Amino acid sequence: MIFNLFINLCVLITFISIAHFYFRDKDVRQNKSVLIKIINGVCSGSLGILLMVFSMHITPTVLIDFRVIPIILSSLYGGLLPTIIASLITGNFRILYFGISRGSVFAVIVILLMAIGCTVINLIKTQRKNKLVYNIIFAIILNSIKMIILINNPKLLAEGLIVYCFGLLFVSYFMFKFTEYLSESVKLHKRLENQATVDFLTGLNNVREFNTSLNNIEQQAIRKGESISMIYLDIDYFKKINDVYGHIAGDIVLKKLADILTNTCRSFDIISRNGGEEFSVILLDCSSIYAFTIAERLRKKVEGNQFNISNEVSIHITISIGVATYPDTTDNVNKLTNYADIALYEAKRNGRNKVVVYNNNKVMPKFQLEQFL
Ligand code: GH3
Ligand code: MG
Ligand code: MG
Repeated sequence: MIFNLFINLCVLITFISIAHFYFRDKDVRQNKSVLIKIINGVCSGSLGILLMVFSMHITPTVLIDFRVIPIILSSLYGGLLPTIIASLITGNFRILYFGISRGSVFAVIVILLMAIGCTVINLIKTQRKNKLVYNIIFAIILNSIKMIILINNPKLLAEGLIVYCFGLLFVSYFMFKFTEYLSESVKLHKRLENQATVDFLTGLNNVREFNTSLNNIEQQAIRKGESISMIYLDIDYFKKINDVYGHIAGDIVLKKLADILTNTCRSFDIISRNGGEEFSVILLDCSSIYAFTIAERLRKKVEGNQFNISNEVSIHITISIGVATYPDTTDNVNKLTNYADIALYEAKRNGRNKVVVYNNNKVMPKFQLEQFL
């Protein structure tokens, strides 16, 4: 019935894959919620039950399976409470399902000692890999003693010890490698996802994410009849900053400007670096008047800010801003970016350090807009 141990391995792989799928975004070890710990314990206990159902019978009352693995996992990833719950569920099932016998009494003792041992090992300040090794050695010692006490036939005893020791070593090594592989894949996936959407220099959205967000928001605005405003801004004479103070100083200015944008806009506005020294802010559910106010606030904040590019040198910069709003100043939501860009160009043409609002195929400088307001 060694085939049952193969089923044990398959059950463990399935369980770990499902757990990874559901908990990949949550750090279960850091989670202090009692409910999560109870769920962890119940799941580990249930896994132990499943492994016992597919156990290999060495004698009618001595069973070999990998039920210790869920107890070890719950102790490594959950702590004391899940370990106690998992061991109680596993121990009770051992007696209820297979009946009371000398074998089941020893099995329950082993499970409880295992829970205590795992908890003590978990207190040791060492890597998780080492704790796993100590747990496996402890499980092998406990179960070997149990078999030596319970199995009188030397041939059966030798067979039981060999199958259990090598089986547990192989399965735990495989599980460890498999879990490492899954964790690495999740980390890699997150890093790629991040690189695909985030601007490496400022931490704002990159242009790809800007386009994706804009597409979604445009559809939502048309459906719900909400207004959206687009702020497009560009640093004035940025090339000079690079030429005079160097590229690194230019990068510092870009990062500080990103901080000002983040601190000035609302948390749900979508701020992006669209390339070079051009930034955009998509203001959700925001009228033209309010967008103009925010843009002016931004312009003044940047104008009044000291950009410390080194311990000794701090400089001042200005920005030019174009604003377009659907449906206030244009009825074509798909052209918001174009219109905000046209308004930005107009701000540059009119002397820079200005906010210009696009209004139905014509741009409106600040003084006209104030009359319009
Ligand atoms: P204007 O007022 O008309 O906007 O003039 P400008 O000098 O700001 O505009 P221009 O387009 O001539 O120059 C933009 C400069 O931005 C050129 C480029 O070297 C610089 N730049 C683009 N990306 C980066 C970056 O990531 N870091 C730094 N430091 N500079 C960058
Ligand atoms: Mg510029
Ligand atoms: Mg530019």
